[in-house]
Amino acid sequence: MIDIQNVSKWYGNFQVLTDCSTSIKKGEVVVVCGPSGSGKSTLIKTVNALEPIQQGDIRVDGQSITAAGTNLPRLRSRVGMVFQNFELFPHLSVTENLTLAQIKVLGRPKDEAMQRGLKMLDRVGLLAHKDKFPGQLSGGQQQRVAIARALSMDPIAMLFDEPTSALDPEMVGEVLDVMVQLAHEGMTMMCVTHEMGFAKKVSHRVIFMDAGRIVEDCSKDDFFGHPEARSLRAKDFLSKIL
Ligand code: ADP
Ligand code: MG
Repeated sequence: MIDIQNVSKWYGNFQVLTDCSTSIKKGEVVVVCGPSGSGKSTLIKTVNALEPIQQGDIRVDGQSITAAGTNLPRLRSRVGMVFQNFELFPHLSVTENLTLAQIKVLGRPKDEAMQRGLKMLDRVGLLAHKDKFPGQLSGGQQQRVAIARALSMDPIAMLFDEPTSALDPEMVGEVLDVMVQLAHEGMTMMCVTHEMGFAKKVSHRVIFMDAGRIVEDCSKDDFFGHPEARSLRAKDFLSKIL
């Protein structure tokens, strides 16, 4: 579903990604972890071409993001992205947040967009809040609306960039619960997170990044079950986080 091939990227003279390759199959849940500044956010943003790459290629459902003629807005609309800071439109109500891109990008009729949006809002347990504005919701609720908004676009895969790291601790669980449910329903997911409980519970694979490189890319069982076989950097990281 997502095929990352020998991707390198520079910000000016600074090489932020070096020869990163991995692929994520349909229905697979992959957790990406690693120290701050190791390139996790940059890598995940390259997948839907929010950040351009200078070398390599990425294919999403077989379609290259770098090929001439690729319709990037169309491709982006098919890959849901959830960020650390929710990024809801503050001046729009929950239902307007849920329907805007469906109407503008997918060209859905308003009532169909509303139906789909409310169904997803119900799924994340927030139907009763449909007429509120983001500022009237807790951080955990805002993030669940952001997930519902992404799901309303019928994505073929979901990308998460530290979706719980800006939340107060008591709200982390409600967002992880939604993500666990999605994983169990077979959604293809690439999740940057340091929630190792989530990784142990639902991920199939764990990628560990350090200094712009993919240092580990192995099954969850190997990552957590055989620490002796891991790189020094991954061992050090795990010893601090677990
Ligand atoms: P992570 O998500 O793992 O913390 P990032 O992908 O955000 O790492 O950043 C990787 C490196 O790239 C960091 O050293 C960061 O300072 C640098 N970086 C990120 N975004 C930019 C940018 N827009 N311009 C220049 N450097 C950047
Ligand atoms: Mg980051």
